[in-house]
Amino acid sequence: MRAPAAALDRVLTAVDDAAPEIVDFTSALVRIPTVNPPGEAYADCARLIGERLAAGGFDVEYHAAEGRPEHTTSHPRINVVGLRRGRHLRPNVHLNGHFDVVPAGAGWTLDPFGGLVKDGRIYGRGSCDMKAGIAAAVYAAEAIRRAGIALDGSVEISGTVDEESGGYAGVAWLAERRRLSADRNDYVIIPEPLNVDRICIGHRGVYWFEVTTHGRIGHGSMPFLGVSAIEHMGVVLERVRGELIPALAARTTKIPVVPDGARHATLNINGISGGQEVDGIQTPCVADLCRAVFDRRFLLEEGFDATKSEIEELLERAAAATPSLRYSLRDLMIVPPVRTPEDSPVIGALERGISRVLGRPATHVASPGTYDHKHVDRIGGIPHCVAYGPGILDLAHQPNEWCGVDDLVNATKVLALAILELTGTT
Ligand SMILES: [Zn+2]
Repeated sequence: MRAPAAALDRVLTAVDDAAPEIVDFTSALVRIPTVNPPGEAYADCARLIGERLAAGGFDVEYHAAEGRPEHTTSHPRINVVGLRRGRHLRPNVHLNGHFDVVPAGAGWTLDPFGGLVKDGRIYGRGSCDMKAGIAAAVYAAEAIRRAGIALDGSVEISGTVDEESGGYAGVAWLAERRRLSADRNDYVIIPEPLNVDRICIGHRGVYWFEVTTHGRIGHGSMPFLGVSAIEHMGVVLERVRGELIPALAARTTKIPVVPDGARHATLNINGISGGQEVDGIQTPCVADLCRAVFDRRFLLEEGFDATKSEIEELLERAAAATPSLRYSLRDLMIVPPVRTPEDSPVIGALERGISRVLGRPATHVASPGTYDHKHVDRIGGIPHCVAYGPGILDLAHQPNEWCGVDDLVNATKVLALAILELTGTT
């Protein structure tokens, strides 16, 4: 059965009527300090989401990430999944949000876990990334129920852990157990804060690697009798700066990655350590070991193999020009880029929702960094996945993070309309 236009208006009105509740729920989620690392208060947050879903007619399950080393008695990894059946189980729309947040960090002028609501904004760590998104998902489904509309398919909402640290005990864990997979889910929307009129269709690839240079220890008063691993790392870094980084900056992807700087391939040096501990007691020694960790973000057009070969060749050139330079290269993390199919129904449904609610066309973007989309696509086998949610991307992980109430309400409406369309109800 198709919902008439009047039914859509009832849903949008139900969202407006629920606005104070949506704000309160977001604020309540922010007040639970689900800081990762180490993964605080996950069980409390899962329960708050689960209780709200149960009150809205969802069958709720809690999934502890048994078998994962980070799932411990002091910091249990608890995920929550709720399913609300309509007339049929399929099509199923799954809305997934991570409820872990990064540490507050310095520079706040208000309580990062106070959940303050002021002048049309909800403040706090995780307000934007992405507890407002979870609230939008929950109330999108709730508004449909309050409007008295039965879905033709079903809707599922999950709150998951550890996205900020890779999602292995969260979305990846659910997908590995086929709890979030093509066996049960047709469409996945992740309400990450990408700005309320933008649909995120994927992300760049990630290659984290470690380079170690090996030297030979010697007396610091006679450095010529040793081989300095730190100086050799300097040789590597000079080539990274002089050759690699300019080459990467000259490559541009066709995928609409935002911000503009991330349209190019990039490389960051995450950390470096060599010789003695700088804060420790010093003895006169030539450094025999130096390690650096690099974060290379690669483009869909580059691919992983070429990305890694380029690093290997740079290291070989550095070693060839510096006879005593010995090095090793170790892969730390590899995430291939993902991209939603251009004709995916999930994109079309959100585009129509955005233009109806906001009165302007949607923009397609891709994320500079990786997020749980990769697990949905690669492990869950669901290609029809995008990120769309309230909040301004640039505010994520910042001090005084906030989400606008207007954005939150509008995103809730867009999600509600998308659920109706994707379940075949409209
Ligand atoms: Zn996030």
